[in-house]
Amino acid sequence: MENIFCAFCSRPEQEVDIMIFGKTGNICNNCVQQAEEIIKNDLVAQKAQHSFSYLDWEKLKPKLIKAHLDQYVVGQSHAKEVLAVAVYNHYKRLTQNKQLKKENDVVIEKSNILMIGPTGTGKTYLIRNLAKMLQVPFCIVDATSITEAGYVGEDVESMLVRLLQVANYDIQAAEKGIVYIDEIDKIARKSDNASITRDVSGEGVQQALLKLMEGAVVNVPPKGGRKHPEQKMIPINTENILFICGGAFDGIEKTIERRLKTRPLGFQFSDSSTTQTKKSSLLRHISAIDLKSYGFIPELVGRLSVITSLDALTKDALYKILTQPKNALIKQYKKLLAMENIALSFTEEALNYIVEKSFSLKLGARGLRTLCETIMHQAMFELPSQHETSTYTIDKAYAIKSFEHAKLDTLQVA
Ligand code: ADP
Repeated sequence: MENIFCAFCSRPEQEVDIMIFGKTGNICNNCVQQAEEIIKNDLVAQKAQHSFSYLDWEKLKPKLIKAHLDQYVVGQSHAKEVLAVAVYNHYKRLTQNKQLKKENDVVIEKSNILMIGPTGTGKTYLIRNLAKMLQVPFCIVDATSITEAGYVGEDVESMLVRLLQVANYDIQAAEKGIVYIDEIDKIARKSDNASITRDVSGEGVQQALLKLMEGAVVNVPPKGGRKHPEQKMIPINTENILFICGGAFDGIEKTIERRLKTRPLGFQFSDSSTTQTKKSSLLRHISAIDLKSYGFIPELVGRLSVITSLDALTKDALYKILTQPKNALIKQYKKLLAMENIALSFTEEALNYIVEKSFSLKLGARGLRTLCETIMHQAMFELPSQHETSTYTIDKAYAIKSFEHAKLDTLQVA
């Protein structure tokens, strides 16, 4: 008798619960379930893409924003909720302030956001996915590249130039965009001592940033580049631009701990708290005072009224990042090989090995990609030419062999 297979996963009829027969092929119950999942997720994403716009804040409830982020970003629930509420309020504020009629109407002030958490935990990734959903111009700038006007490096206005470029020089769109300032902790004042040498990347830059966050109108050169005396400047109103800052703030947990310990009720961890969980829970208690002690001017801290922290990634989170999100790495490799009609699979041990390695090498989520690329390299090179191959499994032995061959053990990420 002719063998009956599922046309999607190639499993024979004996290995599945239900096989649905079609005219030209069959499908098993597992594949039907997976297909349903894909359709559901895609519909949510399509709805998000087509029905949200920044003026349509009514549809943009915080819960929906979080649900969208959940599709891509693993864990970090607290940060997602805080971001969702802040963005919701921000765009509500845009609509409300536009409609202000009476003089004594309440004006909702802008709340810029500060995200604190170890590197590679998803700060940039969260904001990137948020901006994609909101369909607003979005750019990332590195605080370390900004210097005080007149010094070698980029002026603070350069971030607005970039936003304008992303917005295709649509000033109105740029004026409602999002700027993500990465590594904001690197512009903390180095010491309380008013400096002997000029503090090129410290307080001066903070002052300049403050101007933008307060909502000043800033003149920027029209097509980027350095300022030129004869150039006609474009005035950009930063009042409705949402500034989101992110940084690792190494060592700030010690400041928080010291402050909390001086409180009458004290602050105690159970003996079982690991260093990591201790650090994460301390970061949850961060306040303006800690940021000032870290070297930020009070005015700037005052403008960063929404603060949230991201947790360090556990092995469990790394495993989920590798396998679950919509664009999970494993799904990407499977898709790449499915295009060659090869069903790729990974054994549990192989996946756990990748996670363990990334964790022990302190490579975090960024390391997952490096490791996968190394492990998959040979297979990705050879499989497309092997026409007879229809299934391929990566097991732990294969992963170890590829990894050791590449001598990645020497790899360390700060
Ligand atoms: P940072 O916190 O330093 O800004 P990123 O957001 O740039 O870290 O993270 C680096 C990469 O790691 C991202 O592009 C994403 O692929 C992955 N990643 C990090 N954290 C997560 C997470 N929580 N969920 C899913 N992917 C993540």
